Amino acid sequence: MDSLSHWVGGRAVPGTSGRVGPVFDPARGVQTREVALASAAEVSDVVKVARDASREWAIAPLSRRTSMLFKLRELIDSRRDDLARAITAEHGKVLTDAAGEVARGLDCVEFACGIPHLLKGAHSAEVSTGIDVHTVLHPVGVVAGITPFNFPVMVPLWMAANAVACGNAFVLKPSERDPSPSMLLASLFAEAGFPDGVFNVVHGDAEAVNALIEHPDVDAVSFVGSTPIARHVYETGTAHGKRVQALGGAKNHMVVLPDADLAGAADAAVSAAYGSAGERCMAISVVVAVGGAADPLLDAITSKIGDVIIGPGDQPESMMGPLITAAHRDRVRSYVRGAVGEGARVVVDGSASPVAGDGFYLGCSLLDGVEPGMKAYDDEIFGPVLSVVRVASLDDAIALVNANPYGNGVALFTRDGGAARRFEREIEVGMVGVNVPIPVPVAWHSFGGWKASIFGDTSIYGPEGIRFYTRQKVISTRWPDPSPSSLDLGFPTNR
Ligand code: NAD
Repeated sequence: MDSLSHWVGGRAVPGTSGRVGPVFDPARGVQTREVALASAAEVSDVVKVARDASREWAIAPLSRRTSMLFKLRELIDSRRDDLARAITAEHGKVLTDAAGEVARGLDCVEFACGIPHLLKGAHSAEVSTGIDVHTVLHPVGVVAGITPFNFPVMVPLWMAANAVACGNAFVLKPSERDPSPSMLLASLFAEAGFPDGVFNVVHGDAEAVNALIEHPDVDAVSFVGSTPIARHVYETGTAHGKRVQALGGAKNHMVVLPDADLAGAADAAVSAAYGSAGERCMAISVVVAVGGAADPLLDAITSKIGDVIIGPGDQPESMMGPLITAAHRDRVRSYVRGAVGEGARVVVDGSASPVAGDGFYLGCSLLDGVEPGMKAYDDEIFGPVLSVVRVASLDDAIALVNANPYGNGVALFTRDGGAARRFEREIEVGMVGVNVPIPVPVAWHSFGGWKASIFGDTSIYGPEGIRFYTRQKVISTRWPDPSPSSLDLGFPTNR
């Protein structure tokens, strides 16, 4: 069976730990390859290669870095289809979703192409007599990026584009469940001319992650994944003296007021809840129906669910693919099967597989009468299950969202500007959409939730990414005004 190697110092390096993990085609339920799982000693070898590369890379001229980033941009653009196919083969999402993911990752490379401008420090002249002050942004050194399964190209690019642009060496530890796209990315970094050791990939599981977050030569850690692991990475990494940004899980609400365009809101709810089989950190998992919006909205969502075509991600007619593993499918299914016992109503039951064969499929499920305290509400399900919570007023909707421990994304659907303005001000969530169901910030803003959706104080990519991947140095300089004698340039003065 094909065994996936690490990528270290500009080439593929087979694993030596003797441990491997299975990689599946979720659409067919078959194992397609295995991936090496690094030991702590192998992680240490990769970090050493990155540390060595970081010394010269830190002082590489900005013009050289920029030309490589532009080249990387061209290469990713020309290999969009290959990247999308690599995602679909191991993640299972449909090709159009995979292509969208590549496009959003490319946005981050395009942002990083502006690095000469982004790294300009500030300068204050004459802060006191003869004294100037300026700031310089230095790279931090070696950055580890630990990424989740659900965006195997986009999330690594959220991190790596800015990290290397700032002059750091990068070690990616991708999800062991869909590790192949990261190897294609690594080959594109090499082809773009990045020196060996500037972009590395080490595959693995908890052992590799723990080795990275404890390693004395890793300076910064960017993590994206579930909340319990984000908390662990943040606490362990910071205890070992690193700067850490750790983005966690989510429970995203979509509040719909009675004055909203309900047909449009239903369309948005269906694509935001069931797109990528609900395996998006910005997926809508709760519709909060306010007052009279509930019944017509529920009817509209129910009828649109019937239009969702479920099948292999590589088939052009498919709109939703399988889940990532059989175990995850079974876990998601348990929320639908347990909902009635908790007092909810199953309006659409997608718990049976709608596709013949061994693929990890579920249908779309819709639950009504869900409330806090039920597992379907309290847990991040991360699958194609949409819950409806009915509330009486906008006040109740805001209170419900603010009481939730997560604070990643939220959306409001309304035609009332005053209500939208109030919602925007009072809601305790990091990314807010008004008539936009999935408000993922563009690459020149930054991405990050609040509360249990993030640990650390810096969001990811955009300007906050540049801040995270650099250390600021402030230099105060005193040069006395030249005395007349020091202006003597050696010309005769007694003319
Ligand atoms: P996960 O937390 O299981 O895994 C993320 C990474 O952590 C992987 O690289 C994995 O190998 C590693 N890991 C897993 N268990 C570990 C352990 N015990 N110790 C150390 N490392 C460990 O997440 P996932 O299932 O791959 O991805 C889905 C989750 O990611 C969801 O909760 C989703 O909301 C979240 N997510 C969040 C964002 C965001 O921006 N906030 C974006 C995408 C995904």
